[in-house]
Amino acid sequence: MIDPKHMDALIKIAGPGGASQDAAELAPHLTEWRDKFQGNCPLMLMPADTKTLSAIVRYCQEHRINIVPQGGNTGLVGGGTPGLEGRDEILVSTKRMNRILAVDAEDFSITAEAGAPVAALQAAAADVDRLFPLSLASEGSCTAGGVISTNAGGVHVLRYGTTRALVLGIEAVLPTGEIVNSLSSLRKDNTGYNLAQLLVGAEGTLGIVTKATFKLSPPERQKHTCWLAVESPAVALKLLSSLREATGDRVSAFELMPRGGLEMVFSHIPGARDPLDAPYPWCVLTDVATSRPDPGLATALEAWLEAELDAGRILDGAIAATVGQGQDFWRLRESMSEAQKHEGGSIKHDISVPVSKVPAFLAEATAAIEAGYPGSRTTPFGHLGDGNIHFNIMQPKGGDKQAFLAQWEAMNAMVHDIVVSMGGSISAEHGIGTLKRDELTRLKPPAELAAMRAIKAALDPNNILNPGVLFG
Ligand SMILES: Cc1cc2nc3c(=O)[nH]c(=O)nc-3n(C[C@H](O)[C@H](O)[C@H](O)COP(=O)(O)OP(=O)(O)OC[C@H]3O[C@@H](n4cnc5c(N)ncnc54)[C@H](O)[C@@H]3O)c2cc1C
Repeated sequence: MIDPKHMDALIKIAGPGGASQDAAELAPHLTEWRDKFQGNCPLMLMPADTKTLSAIVRYCQEHRINIVPQGGNTGLVGGGTPGLEGRDEILVSTKRMNRILAVDAEDFSITAEAGAPVAALQAAAADVDRLFPLSLASEGSCTAGGVISTNAGGVHVLRYGTTRALVLGIEAVLPTGEIVNSLSSLRKDNTGYNLAQLLVGAEGTLGIVTKATFKLSPPERQKHTCWLAVESPAVALKLLSSLREATGDRVSAFELMPRGGLEMVFSHIPGARDPLDAPYPWCVLTDVATSRPDPGLATALEAWLEAELDAGRILDGAIAATVGQGQDFWRLRESMSEAQKHEGGSIKHDISVPVSKVPAFLAEATAAIEAGYPGSRTTPFGHLGDGNIHFNIMQPKGGDKQAFLAQWEAMNAMVHDIVVSMGGSISAEHGIGTLKRDELTRLKPPAELAAMRAIKAALDPNNILNPGVLFG
């Protein structure tokens, strides 16, 4: 239990409006979107600036009080939930540090506080005719600090890379309370270890991000969104290659969805309608975009579509006629996770394999699950363009949810072993958190794990920052 005298001291340091012990106010910060974790915490601190946060961390370091940082709380792996496994922890939310600080169109950069939502970064960039290309279904809530800490991916990785590729500089508070400021829009800086990049994907275990500068791109002035029906993931993969070639590599998103998953969207999401007339086994949603209006792109796309229809690789397809229709297509893709919530228990795998191995992975993992867990429904979908598949397995229809979910670890092990055998990753974009900690220990090469532990011990020797995350 955290000594009340320490809580009083921290409330004082946080200043007016900087703390809450109100159970109702804390409640939404103690569960995650999937309701898989239920946390517990006596105190949430909401510092208004870096200096206050630094003073909080310094106090916690001195008195060995554990801290869990939290941004938008859209993480899916129990990384930002305080008090799991009986730990005494305080929550530090960045919700009051949410300003956009600078947008520089000539520099193609944007600087914001850690609690700024991704949607606000996108809007601020658009205001100066620039693109903040990170795009994910949680963008209304997830924050700059959160996407940095999980190295979020989303639907545009194929073209713009993960968050890591977008981060130019970071200001952060280290576990000692010291402030490190590498906030800069420099594209080149070879002066030793890159602390900013070390914090990317660190899941709040090495420091608390307070500000960040991100790279921007020219806006996508012309975009074509296509919905395509295909027989199999193998055909979808061939289409990805041929579309990249046909459009001069202007594919910015390439998503794969199975029939079963789409049926769940049509059943559970109000207003969701199949864009095509017949039920095809797999569908692809793709964006082709260019930063300068180019009638040649539309012509190239139409020619490609016609050729692939003639060749029988595309069974049916539609190019969105309006921006609104394109958004309707995307709503179907973005509703895949939400729709699955209505079908009972779902066991998740956020994996990646080399792009060329996605069809083989899907075939092998689906066969293994169907043989090992008869009746369960594999519903894989995701970013075929970058090899990241959300390999979700739904409980058998009418089955017992808790009994199904009790198989989570065993199913994970089965799928992850296949992923590793193909040179893949057991966490493509959601991180490790507490959810995949044991699998990380089981599957990460020992020398890499030892190096990670050494970095953690060097920066946070008393293990006060997110002590349950990444390592046991
Ligand atoms: C509907 C939905 C769709 C999603 N789609 C995607 C997707 O396509 N791609 C993808 O990559 N992810 C996706 N996610 C997961 C999630 O949105 C991302 O992980 C996101 O990066 C989390 O940001 P957040 O601000 O909500 O962080 P939180 O959930 O608050 O925290 C996540 C982790 O980062 C740490 N953290 C948060 N802020 C800081 C900080 N300032 N300094 C240090 N550590 C910090 C926390 O301790 C925790 O470990 C999705 C989630 C949902 C609910």
